[in-house]
Amino acid sequence: MYDVAIIGCGITGSACAYFLSKYSLKIAIIEKKNDVCCGTTRANSAIIHAGYDPIPGTLCAKYNVRGNLLTKEICKKLDVLCKEIGSLVLAFSDEEKETLKELYERGIKNGVPDMEIWDGDRIRREEPNVSENAVAALYAPTAAIVNPWEYGLAMAETAVRNGAELMLNSEVKSISKADGGWKIETGSGSVEAKYVINAAGVYTDIIHNMVADKSFEIIPNAGEYYLLDKCEGERVSHVIFQCPDKNGKGVLVAPTVHGNLIVGPNAVDSDRDDTATRTASLDFVRTSAVKSVPSINFRENIRNFTGVRANADTGDFVIGFAAENFLDLAGIKSPGLSAAPAIAEDAVRMLKEKGLELREKENFIDTRRHLRFNELSDEKKNEVIARNPLYGRVVCRCETITEGEIVDALASPIKPVSLDGVKRRAGTGMGRCQGGFCGPKVLEIIARSNNITFEDVLQDDTGSYILTGETKNGGAK
Ligand SMILES: Cc1cc2nc3c(=O)[nH]c(=O)nc-3n(C[C@H](O)[C@H](O)[C@H](O)COP(=O)(O)OP(=O)(O)OC[C@H]3O[C@@H](n4cnc5c(N)ncnc54)[C@H](O)[C@@H]3O)c2cc1C
Repeated sequence: MYDVAIIGCGITGSACAYFLSKYSLKIAIIEKKNDVCCGTTRANSAIIHAGYDPIPGTLCAKYNVRGNLLTKEICKKLDVLCKEIGSLVLAFSDEEKETLKELYERGIKNGVPDMEIWDGDRIRREEPNVSENAVAALYAPTAAIVNPWEYGLAMAETAVRNGAELMLNSEVKSISKADGGWKIETGSGSVEAKYVINAAGVYTDIIHNMVADKSFEIIPNAGEYYLLDKCEGERVSHVIFQCPDKNGKGVLVAPTVHGNLIVGPNAVDSDRDDTATRTASLDFVRTSAVKSVPSINFRENIRNFTGVRANADTGDFVIGFAAENFLDLAGIKSPGLSAAPAIAEDAVRMLKEKGLELREKENFIDTRRHLRFNELSDEKKNEVIARNPLYGRVVCRCETITEGEIVDALASPIKPVSLDGVKRRAGTGMGRCQGGFCGPKVLEIIARSNNITFEDVLQDDTGSYILTGETKNGGAK
């Protein structure tokens, strides 16, 4: 029997796994997809919020500021790209100036440090591409940008290196009481555990209802984005928000840690797994964004994507025991990415209060290295190529990703099984051509490394085959 089973390996589940793996515990992480963090954690604004937005006294407020601090510590230790670039909330009218004051007061109550209110001149000095119509801004220097997917991977990978067992392709179907704990039936077998954490994102209400009466509902809500090429990446140097309204924090414009420009999201009710992009939504995003930054060149768009918010009908995170030793970490909407490590830290405390014995491991591994060839000095590049000539073979020319980095990804503790899995780890196909040129070569390397045929290589999720067979050898299968 496992000590703890975590259902869902998004940022919430991976943070819990990371914090729990510091102790001598038998941990299972149960994930329905074929890779980690492929729910909401892979499609969001990638901002580590400063913490002035949540209403004081809510769980969102409680975990945001602490999460901001912990995220930076964890990203440093686990070699995840995270940059503290600060954020601005723009006001375009006297009424919105009042909103800034309100946000500032909330920030003070929530413990956000070093905020300032800027006037129009200061905004244009610091951000020359921001609209002349912006009359004031709330500046929060502790806001940061991160690679959300790698952040989740890094914590899950570290948990696995410290002994946690990750069960991919294992959708939880039902849960029942077992002797001394819970029995979880998954698509790939059953798991028994003394304690269970429900971190299933937009499915947390469904999992909750397997062990307790209905007490909340997830109302999925989609947000759509533009991702622009690196030539637009310096359009702004802070995260640029508009004043929040009833739909949330509104459309933002921000650089990404990879040097692109992200623009979005809108907010529309959707299905749990509906990650389609819609023309009307993208039109809305474009129109809203140019109010803040009129000169954005949307012709440089390289990708659109959609993330789905797990909004609980309670209006806040839902954190608490659904049943005996069964902990819900549900409704983790924004600022969930920022709050995740603080939620996980508290989840460990809550399980301890319920009797989970925590003995710290003496040999806990708390470091991780990610070789990014493109960022090395010429001297270092020569050194790594001398050590392994595969680093001398550039496969993705847009992003200068080498075969060595792809092979590293394929040999990492949580091995990718798809083209997109390699893309998320190594960065291949992230550039202007979106994998059009390097895709076939990456496919070949995956087949070789995983000892499978070309036809068995997936684009992304289970069943997303790319090739069906040889056209000149009896036809496709
Ligand atoms: C448009 C948008 C923008 C956002 N921007 C920000 C931002 O800038 N900053 C910020 O702090 N937050 C932001 N958020 C919120 C943040 O992305 C989420 O709070 C966070 O990613 C939630 O992580 P999670 O692990 O709880 O859920 P998820 O990442 O969805 O993970 C849940 C996991 O559970 C798995 N699962 C589901 N059902 C089952 C089952 N039956 N069996 C096994 N596994 C299962 C899923 O496959 C998934 O991997 C944004 C969200 C959206 C949608």
